[in-house]
Amino acid sequence: MIRRNFLKIFGWSTAAGFVGVSCTESTKESSPKIKAESGPSQPIIVSTWKHGIEANEAAWKVIQAGGSALDAVEKGVMVTESDPNNQSVGLGGLPDRDGNVTLDACIMNHKGDCGAVAFLKEIENPIAVARKVMEETPHVLLVGQGAQEFALSQGFEKKNLLTDSARKAWLEWKKNENYVTPVNVENHDTISMLAIDKAGNMSGACTTSGLAYKMHGRVGDSPIIGASLFVDNAIGGACATGVGEMVIRIVGSHLVVELMRQGYTPQKACQLAVERIIEKHDSVKGKQVGFLALNKQGESGAYSIYEGFNYAKQTQESNSLIDGVYIHKWSD
Ligand code: ASP
Repeated sequence: MIRRNFLKIFGWSTAAGFVGVSCTESTKESSPKIKAESGPSQPIIVSTWKHGIEANEAAWKVIQAGGSALDAVEKGVMVTESDPNNQSVGLGGLPDRDGNVTLDACIMNHKGDCGAVAFLKEIENPIAVARKVMEETPHVLLVGQGAQEFALSQGFEKKNLLTDSARKAWLEWKKNENYVTPVNVENHDTISMLAIDKAGNMSGACTTSGLAYKMHGRVGDSPIIGASLFVDNAIGGACATGVGEMVIRIVGSHLVVELMRQGYTPQKACQLAVERIIEKHDSVKGKQVGFLALNKQGESGAYSIYEGFNYAKQTQESNSLIDGVYIHKWSD
């Protein structure tokens, strides 16, 4: 699968004048506040990007069979992790600039338990390792070799994750790369998922191979609880995709959940988090961040800096792709 030009970060720190934010009509929607409460709602799943459709299908089967939201989000995003044609998550992910596929993931349940792995190599399903970190260790985050050793001790097997097509793309990229820019990214599309099960409990998961051609050792927001993902079972959950550095700086997903706690709708909470990112950076030119949120009433919303961000929403009725609201067109 050819990845979309989601993120082109060649203009990483340029265009300082890019602050004249012109909102689209849809960003001007009124934003009625809701009262946050924790009543059970119908099962629902939301996940980032088009690949969320397939991931939702797998997660929905778990929920329909009476499984937990935690099982659902784990099994759901594993579909994307194991898809060799997806170049932004798990097997087949684009490598760092030295040719290593390194994976980041985190998971959080309705009790606030969480687990994560970062800079993990040669393990196809980092989300399942993140869950083991949560359930089998007193820790939240394991990284690098330690994370891999832990995974092997839990029965996971080593596998070469660099597919021929990802290797080819990397070799192509290397032809023009001068190794000057700190991050030289073509694009990336993390999968993040939030689900509510039949018992009314919410869990979330996030997994990625991170920025393509990143510096060796670079870790983004995806394994950072509060940045890429946050779930508060009384309020709702939020997750992120895009340039992880920008998400970390505002602890984005936690912010979205806290805004929902204050009574904002998921849509408005995501919008305010995006606006916070814009406010806190000299320039966001060419850099995408998108937030997706789901509250305990089953309302969802998504908002991004640039056009093109969408999410898959699975309910009893359908599994469909929904466009998020955005501030800028890529042509701005
Ligand atoms: N947020 C991820 C990271 O910065 C990348 C992505 O969303 O595709 O590593």
